[in-house]
Amino acid sequence: ILSRDQEGHVVQIVGTAQDISEEVKAQEEIIALNVSLEDRVKQRTEELNQANIELERLATTDYLTGVMNRRAFLTRAEEEASRCRRYGHIMTFVMMDLDHFKQVNDVHGHDAGDTVLVEVSKYIVGRLRNTDLFGRLGGEEFAMLLIETKASDAMIVTERIREGISKLSIPVDDKNNLKVTVSSGLVDSRESDDVTDLQKMADFALYKAKNSGRNRVVRWFPDANLDEESEGSGNLSRDPH
Ligand code: GH3
Ligand code: MG
Ligand code: MG
Repeated sequence: ILSRDQEGHVVQIVGTAQDISEEVKAQEEIIALNVSLEDRVKQRTEELNQANIELERLATTDYLTGVMNRRAFLTRAEEEASRCRRYGHIMTFVMMDLDHFKQVNDVHGHDAGDTVLVEVSKYIVGRLRNTDLFGRLGGEEFAMLLIETKASDAMIVTERIREGISKLSIPVDDKNNLKVTVSSGLVDSRESDDVTDLQKMADFALYKAKNSGRNRVVRWFPDANLDEESEGSGNLSRDPH
């Protein structure tokens, strides 16, 4: 409160003083707490993101070979198939199955079998373009999706891989190097742009590869399939192995 004399000069000031240093201190503490809380939220969010990335990786990766698992491969194949439908691209679906693999396990043990699966996967991955897809569909069965590749060209790629695998000498323990072969069946998206159909056709061609002596690549042809059906054995819906 200001008191003035007649000329207007201030003659008295009455006020109250309060020590607010405690409040300032409290406010500063709150700010500091907020900052550290924000930091912790940020850190937790980052940890959660990392955990989600790792979870996604685990959900899409085959634990043994590190390649795409069945679900991831087929999901990606669906995406590629819709691209084929939209833009008229051609891709080839290849089914692969190791020959007489049960024997590898029976003779050399399951760990040796696992080592073979890992080495064969590595070999195939090393031979594909990075736009191509490769996955383990289960057991000793793999699939490739060769993008922008028609069946006749895919035959060459797959044949080269088949030959390469047959020449591998895979060390499974101190004493043993194993040799394996693979059979493949393939079909391109001109026959169908539906992934389930393509897989069935490639599977059928694979079945033919097995039946005609293994260690070979067979391309699916409509006629081949009709022949089988007219003999009353095998059609697209049967499971050949
Ligand atoms: P075919 O030439 O007709 O394909 O004969 P195959 O013996 O390869 O086929 P079959 O389906 O009879 O046997 C597949 C074997 O693959 C059975 C199992 O011993 C082996 N197998 C499947 N998954 C794994 C795995 O994760 N690890 C190992 N070590 N072996 C596996
Ligand atoms: Mg097999
Ligand atoms: Mg099999």
